[in-house]
Amino acid sequence: MQKSIAVVTGASRGIGAAIAKDLIEANYFVVASATSEAGVEAIKETLGDNGTAFTLNLSNKESCQAFFKQVTELGAVEVLVNNAGITKDTLMLRMKDEDWDDVIETNLSGAFRISKAFLKGMMKKRYGRIINISSVVGAMGNPGQANYCASKAGIEGFTRSLALELGSRNITVNAVAPGFIATDMTKELTEDQKQLMMANIPLARYGEPEEVAKAVKFLASGDANYITGQVLHVNGGLNMG
Ligand code: NAP
Repeated sequence: MQKSIAVVTGASRGIGAAIAKDLIEANYFVVASATSEAGVEAIKETLGDNGTAFTLNLSNKESCQAFFKQVTELGAVEVLVNNAGITKDTLMLRMKDEDWDDVIETNLSGAFRISKAFLKGMMKKRYGRIINISSVVGAMGNPGQANYCASKAGIEGFTRSLALELGSRNITVNAVAPGFIATDMTKELTEDQKQLMMANIPLARYGEPEEVAKAVKFLASGDANYITGQVLHVNGGLNMG
């Protein structure tokens, strides 16, 4: 029997790579993305027969369309994980228009474009699972991340609205909001920022990508059939709101 397809954007490293691995364990054929050909080849090598990968630049409409076309040639998509994201941190007074635009385009508009493209197939199938990767700072805010926090607060509103629109089609839409996870993204934080974060994490450690992936795997599974419009926090207690 042919496996169902799960799409994971930005699976060349970090949280996306862990999600791809877990969805393979859940018996999905995983279609992943990276921004470069080299990244695509590396993913293909990791996934083997259990998946494939294509290039995708979420901030570029044509790239989103090309990605969608390549994926749909493989079959209908059941699970979509909007994981890829970027930061361009700086205090507001120093934030350039392009720092704002790049982050909103990639994290928020990109998720809009990709979700819209795959939605039609899910509606036709009357089944779908959309899981958006937000961030703890979407709810808390964070100095130096006005663009990133706005994109993540936006993705949570987007999640709830889509959940309302699509519930009657048996499509659930949820978000997972990680706290401080050890990936390339958090390597860029200064020591001061890291220590400040750590002081506020009750579990007193950073999270691992695999710990976020488990939450995504749960939301994609039959065990979460009656969960929609929610934000599942995976943050070691950093925010309990
Ligand atoms: P990461 O290690 O920096 O990986 C980012 C991924 O996104 C890579 O696969 C990258 O591809 C891809 N990507 C970057 N720009 C892209 C673009 N324009 N179009 C398409 N893909 C693009 O990040 P991460 O820490 O795993 O984060 C994954 C998600 O979790 C993000 O949405 C992030 O905001 C969220 N998150 C992370 C943390 C954390 O502490 N790490 C906390 C909260 C939320 P390339 O490898 O080709 O560049």
